[in-house]
Amino acid sequence: MLHLEKSAAAFEEAQTLMPGGVNSPVRSYNRIGCPPPFISWAKGSTICDIDGNQYIDYVGSWGPMIVGHAHPRVVKALQEAATRGTSYGAPTLIESQLAQLVKEIYPSIEKLRMVNSGTEATMSAIRVARGYTGRDKIVKFIGCYHGHGDSLLVKAGSGAATFGQPDSPGVTAGTAKDTLTVAYNDADAFRELMDRCGDDIAAVIVEPIAGNMGLVLPEDGYLQLLRDETKKHGTVLIFDEVMCGFRTALHGAQSIYHIVPDMTTLGKIIGGGLPVAAYGGRKDIMDCVSPAGPVYQAGTLSGNPLAMAAGLETLRIITEDPDYVEKACAKTKILTDGLKAAADEAGAAVQVHRAGTMFSVFFSAVPVTNYATSEASDQEAFQRYFLSMLEQGIYLAPSQFETNFVSGVHSDEDIEKTITAARTAFEKAVV
Ligand code: PLP
Repeated sequence: MLHLEKSAAAFEEAQTLMPGGVNSPVRSYNRIGCPPPFISWAKGSTICDIDGNQYIDYVGSWGPMIVGHAHPRVVKALQEAATRGTSYGAPTLIESQLAQLVKEIYPSIEKLRMVNSGTEATMSAIRVARGYTGRDKIVKFIGCYHGHGDSLLVKAGSGAATFGQPDSPGVTAGTAKDTLTVAYNDADAFRELMDRCGDDIAAVIVEPIAGNMGLVLPEDGYLQLLRDETKKHGTVLIFDEVMCGFRTALHGAQSIYHIVPDMTTLGKIIGGGLPVAAYGGRKDIMDCVSPAGPVYQAGTLSGNPLAMAAGLETLRIITEDPDYVEKACAKTKILTDGLKAAADEAGAAVQVHRAGTMFSVFFSAVPVTNYATSEASDQEAFQRYFLSMLEQGIYLAPSQFETNFVSGVHSDEDIEKTITAARTAFEKAVV
């Protein structure tokens, strides 16, 4: 039995200080039935809570930790950067070094701008696309999450789905009316929407590999359809690779599906665990951004030297060994094959999805291809599975609407232990 007494007390206190006791909703374990473990340290693939429980971590700070926690090279880069001052609000060489490396990894990005969060990246990309096209409307896909900017918080996934608030109060009707939504993977609905109003649409934004309704992959030809239709109507196609970038493949989803989007948003891994994200794309579009062009976007801490140092070192680690990400993907496949076999043995009807180093388990007998099928999965069975895994020292994302992440430092032993734990957890889930 898991001891979470200190975390329970800390959570009680936190609830008097912060809404729901947390600084981001999913951390609250709202639907799980135990307090969230309060974390005291993390190293490699291990995360430890204030009660002293150690877990194999598949949350990885929700994606950034592809080289594991407290990687010695990242820590050293941060220590060295800190001694030179933590922020100047002026240009630095390291910003260009990181921008150059990102451009090399993502050839579709001709110019980019660093920001502080994925939310800022998508919000800014939408503004730029609107400025570039002179159009107001955008299209997003139901269950895709692009951060909490007003115009994108419409039928969003992730925490917004977990808490049943796909349309948040506070987003004005005026803002929401310019966001058109369509089901993910529904080719006919998208074609019909573009036929009807494609020439009024500034941007289509998509998670090319969707990770915020659980992990849902694009069906064959779907992303090509988005590319063809947006090109036809002069609409900017934005691939939101904040989550799937650098980890479904080093060069991201766009390299897997051979699609060149007009703009890309990146986050998480690009900051190596510090607050960094970026948006970028075609030079003619990015040259609309101030001060090169008229579309305003700025940030006191954008390009912060500590954040740049952590991001640059992380990207160096995963590019110096050209197979770094591929090896982590292969490890993830062993894990997901093992999870599927464990579920079959226990008689649990599940869909195990994987894309590179991302994976999720849906308690569903039918294929999960969009938000509706994800939402129909058995949440209670998931809860039993999740709690059993936690008790056995496996730290997973506490919602079926989230994705789990494997790093390059998860060991073969970690994977084996996780599969062994899953045998018990699936048995508990099916009772
Ligand atoms: N876009 C995607 C695809 C995401 O998964 C997320 C966050 O999970 C965001 C944007 C928002 O990023 P942030 O939480 O850094 O604001």
